[in-house]
Amino acid sequence: MRTHKVRAAVLRDGGGPLKIETLELEGPLEDEVLVRLSASGICHTDIGFVDGGAGEPVVLGHEGAGVVEEAGEKVKGLSPGDHVVLSYLSCGSCGPCKKRRPFDCERLFEANFGFSRLDGSNGYWRSDVKGHFFGQSSFATMCLSTKRNIVKVEKELPLELLAALGCGLQTGAGTVMNIFKIKKGQSLAIFGTGAVGLAAVMAGRINGAGPIIGVDIVPKRLKLALELGATHVVDSRDEDTASRIKAVTGKGVDFVLDTTGDLEMSRISSEVLNPGGVAADVTGIASERTLPGGRKAISVIQGNSVPQSFIPKLIRLYKEGLFPFDRLVKFYDFRDINKAITASKSGRVIKPVLKMIGK
Ligand SMILES: [Zn+2]
Ligand SMILES: [Zn+2]
Repeated sequence: MRTHKVRAAVLRDGGGPLKIETLELEGPLEDEVLVRLSASGICHTDIGFVDGGAGEPVVLGHEGAGVVEEAGEKVKGLSPGDHVVLSYLSCGSCGPCKKRRPFDCERLFEANFGFSRLDGSNGYWRSDVKGHFFGQSSFATMCLSTKRNIVKVEKELPLELLAALGCGLQTGAGTVMNIFKIKKGQSLAIFGTGAVGLAAVMAGRINGAGPIIGVDIVPKRLKLALELGATHVVDSRDEDTASRIKAVTGKGVDFVLDTTGDLEMSRISSEVLNPGGVAADVTGIASERTLPGGRKAISVIQGNSVPQSFIPKLIRLYKEGLFPFDRLVKFYDFRDINKAITASKSGRVIKPVLKMIGK
């Protein structure tokens, strides 16, 4: 078996810290692509596992970007040297996948959270460490992905920056553009102005939504929300969120995106919705339900985005100056991964991105 030496940040116990270890990665298998990572974003799902543990030693990371090192013999359209952004994985063969709805994949959970390939095997050679998180495990210098979670991108923009697009930003922008399909003059409230929420603010502005109301408890993030397109902000620590929203819109709001995972905010989101409105939760706490007056509460996965078309769209909008997501990013050396996680948890840094090169 041919293997490749990789450096990877391993989570051995819940609570961390992550330790960078040398592992051997096999492959790629015939349908896999070996990617040499340039960078990886850190997303809240990673931090949830760091805090809670995975029950076995694992490599996290699901916002990778890098260069194709080698493509398996059955992989078409990707060759060594191609620049790629990695996103979530789908099975590719179930009903929803065949209808180009990978976000509804019947095997979505095991594909992304199974810490193995879909056949149950693992690419780390003779190791107790498990990978394949979101079909990548990108807190490493190399990873195995498949065409289903690889997005080929132009070489013009730095991969370090593009790493931020694979999950959180896609989810926020996708919810507004693909699910709400928000139109000019429709109102939008965003609970939690972290990476997902700020991507939604920018997407709302692009589509002409208004008012766009950002709600958070970190003044610095509220200030950034105003700069990126929010027309109003609410500090929910010292203002009553529901009455402020009603005061701003004169009634209620057409759409709510809740990124907080907070039950009280979830309650408020149903309270402030206009008839026919939609409240989307990205944290998995809310169950889908129909509310009176044609209102709906829905649970959202990846903003119903097909990464291979939506990520290039976000890159185009960035180049046009309409989606300035670089304003959310702060870079860290891979070896400072624990520091980057702490900064993200404190709310000081919105989207930490680890640089792998030379590490
Ligand atoms: Zn599927
Ligand atoms: Zn994520």
